[in-house]
Amino acid sequence: MNMLRGFKRVTCPYCGHSFLAADIEDNATVAELPIHCPKCGRIVKTNWLLNLLSRLFG
Ligand SMILES: [Zn+2]
Repeated sequence: MNMLRGFKRVTCPYCGHSFLAADIEDNATVAELPIHCPKCGRIVKTNWLLNLLSRLFG
């Protein structure tokens, strides 16, 4: 099992649903893990999410 660093809040860009996703550290590819939105089922990639978060909070 991958190392769990915790959970982070994700907002789906397609339906706007906000949910908690596991923040998994898989060696160096932290930002490439796809997350399925539990509401619309689309894949939300964490790399754009990190970009968005860094824009909002960074
Ligand atoms: Zn969604």
